[in-house]
Amino acid sequence: MTFKEFDLDRSLQDGLEAMGFDKPTPIQEQAIPIILKGKDLIACAQTGTGKTAAYLLPVINHILHREGDSIDAIIVVPTRELAVQIDQQLEGFSYFTPISSIAIYGGGDGSSFDREKAALKQGADIIIATPGRLISHLNLGYVAVEALQHLILDEADRMLDMGFQDDILKIISHLPQDRQTLLFSATMPPKIRQLANKILKDSEEITI
Ligand code: AMP
Repeated sequence: MTFKEFDLDRSLQDGLEAMGFDKPTPIQEQAIPIILKGKDLIACAQTGTGKTAAYLLPVINHILHREGDSIDAIIVVPTRELAVQIDQQLEGFSYFTPISSIAIYGGGDGSSFDREKAALKQGADIIIATPGRLISHLNLGYVAVEALQHLILDEADRMLDMGFQDDILKIISHLPQDRQTLLFSATMPPKIRQLANKILKDSEEITI
């Protein structure tokens, strides 16, 4: 199969072509139709399988067809390296679209916090964030999540291993209940299942 069969927006197909993406990987083939339908999803997939595009493409496609311009999606990740990688893929896919994103992550000096605050004030469609830094901005009221429609947890097992379980639940307590939630994890230990049971509704499951 090819990406054309998903009926994604023309501008997104142009971005895929420019990035040299031709055929979807197995996780993309399975996940994209489920996400386009609006279903919650738990997906067991390692890095290198194409999991990032599997959720970015349908989420960007949704944003291209919505009204409004406030934050639509938050992607929560364990590390700043992953946040930067995701943001780079996102910029490639959305090159021919008006989609905007902000990556926010801890560890920098005070000026990076102020830069993030200024960027959040300007607004964006998609936020990619590490848990602790996201909570700081949420607590200060810098992240307008009232119209949020998508929450994505990427490398969820790694986040739990790093002790972010409470932070994830705190983040979720700020978000609208009526949203689509996607959980990606390389492994499926019981604690991931428990988290999924808490935060996903009527979800579909994929294992690659
Ligand atoms: P990920 O598993 O999301 O970290 O992706 C691993 C790498 O595969 C990234 O560098 C992507 O740019 C690349 N990639 C993902 N999907 C495709 C695809 N369908 N065709 C070609 N490259 C891809």
